[in-house]
Amino acid sequence: MDDCVFCKIVAKQIPATVVHEDEHTLAFMDIGQVNPGHVLVAVKKHADNIFALDDAQAAAVFRSAARVSRAIRDAFAPQGLSVYQANGKAAGQTVFHLHIHLVPRHEADGMELTWPVKNPPREKLVDYAERIKAKLL
Ligand code: 5GP
Ligand code: ZN
Repeated sequence: MDDCVFCKIVAKQIPATVVHEDEHTLAFMDIGQVNPGHVLVAVKKHADNIFALDDAQAAAVFRSAARVSRAIRDAFAPQGLSVYQANGKAAGQTVFHLHIHLVPRHEADGMELTWPVKNPPREKLVDYAERIKAKLL
């Protein structure tokens, strides 16, 4: 896509600090570095978000995420690692080309995600599940 910053990185039209590349994915250092070692794993062929991935891309992007995560663990010895992936503005996505964040984590490092649980009754869970199952292809 013409105006997409990650397509430009994939096409080597703008620089990025690449750590891994295969047929479907490119992994490079996030310019913002929430913690040292913060990597983005992007698909090479433009997809706006998770909804636009084909099966080969979906498999490849998580395979790369797992491989790079192990390398981050071995290189930085973080206390943990968060996998974060946003789809749509409401979810916090700012670059509309699918990518997975791999963020090394440390106690009290300031990264926060509020998790406002609702704990609905079990019937609600069954209802929600049925709605999803009816749409699964
Ligand atoms: P999102 O908010 O869409 O999940 O994450 C977008 C991420 O892309 C941000 O963490 C931001 O720092 C990173 N980013 C934006 N522009 C560039 C860029 O030109 N190069 C690199 N390496 N990272 C970028
Ligand atoms: Zn793109």
